[in-house]
Amino acid sequence: MSKSGKLFNISKKVIPSGVNSPVRYFEPYPFFTKKANGSHIWDVDDNRYIDFCNGYGALLLGHRRKEILKSVSSQLSKGTLYCTPTESEIELSKLIIGNFPSVDKVRLMNTGGEATMTAIRLARGFTKKKKIIKFEGCYHGAHDSVLVKAGSGSAHNGISVSDGGLDEVSKNTLVVEYNDIEDLQKTIQKNKDIAGVIVEPVLANMGLILPEKNFLSDLRKITKENNIPLIFDEVVTGFRIAPGGAQEYFGIKPDITTMAKALSNGFTISAVGGKKQIMDLLSPGGKVYQASTFAGNPISVSAAISSIKTINKMKNKLYSKLERYNLLLSTALDDMATDMRIPHQINFTASMLQIFFTDKPVVNYQTSKNANAKKFQKLFRTLLKNGVFIAPSQFEVVFLSDAHTKTDLNRTLDAYHSALKSVKK
Ligand SMILES: *Cc1c(COP(=O)(O)O)cnc(C)c1O
Repeated sequence: MSKSGKLFNISKKVIPSGVNSPVRYFEPYPFFTKKANGSHIWDVDDNRYIDFCNGYGALLLGHRRKEILKSVSSQLSKGTLYCTPTESEIELSKLIIGNFPSVDKVRLMNTGGEATMTAIRLARGFTKKKKIIKFEGCYHGAHDSVLVKAGSGSAHNGISVSDGGLDEVSKNTLVVEYNDIEDLQKTIQKNKDIAGVIVEPVLANMGLILPEKNFLSDLRKITKENNIPLIFDEVVTGFRIAPGGAQEYFGIKPDITTMAKALSNGFTISAVGGKKQIMDLLSPGGKVYQASTFAGNPISVSAAISSIKTINKMKNKLYSKLERYNLLLSTALDDMATDMRIPHQINFTASMLQIFFTDKPVVNYQTSKNANAKKFQKLFRTLLKNGVFIAPSQFEVVFLSDAHTKTDLNRTLDAYHSALKSVKK
């Protein structure tokens, strides 16, 4: 048996299901990683993979980016945790505010889920209202308000997707279809108690689903007309699709923004930012409580500072390279699958793409669910066998990084060719 297989058997005995986050599991067992560098990741059996999981999008600049290692190691020599304010927190906040014009003030925290939890509490504290609207299939972390699916009937009240999750909480989350502005409008008309609308401006947790032409601008218009704070969950899109995230890319200003994954290129940090009058509600000055021991820790802050500086310095070159590589990959995949007569859709934008095995356009939760996930599993496993690691689920996304090279792309296309053939069988 492989080393990974042996380690998994041991791991299962001490870690529930052998993994520390559910999506990491796949059949028959996940590989155990030894190291990573640039665009590659190595397992304990010395197999090398081209990495397109990239920390679920966090590693925009690739593994072990030299600028980031340099600033983190310099911080390491000065200490890892102070729990007092530091000048570098000001520097990072200014960088975030500089990239995101909708953000007047920013509070740092640790995970994406913590950021969306705080954003929602802020919206409730600001409006003194109770209900949140989310879109079906959008993922905002693992807490009760957002770990919610659509209930039956037309009331839109959500029900928890997790045992132990309180329906008393999830019923205050109304679930609306992504890309369906009418559904949103009706829901707002029917409910007077809406504290906020939270959305992934590009949906990257049902595979990749793009906002239709006027979806985001209509969403902004309707929420503004009804005085409802709009929360952009840019945990994936922030820094990834543009230096100023989806709001820069689509030219839309939300009231509150959450960011995390690509903020620091692989360290634990997240942020909530927004208008001054909303952000100033946070404690201790305001009455909306939020706190964390590790918030603004100097290691993660130094990584985020150098990450944003690197991004801003490379700006045009970085994003145009990623788009060019993505176009190349997506177009070639489309051609291959078409040649093999495999029913498929490819959704792509900026540095993200996904293939779905279905003949219908994938525009929301249901159309993504209807794609053939079994075929996707086959694709995933054959890719892995051929040295390409993508996130192990149809409902995740293929993430490009700046570390990918033309050689990586050519190898990846060869791997996809074999993988698509295995799907065809
Ligand atoms: C990953 C993700 C989160 C949760 O972030 P964690 O750091 O895993 O808690 C929230 N929103 C979106 C859009 C995400 O992709």
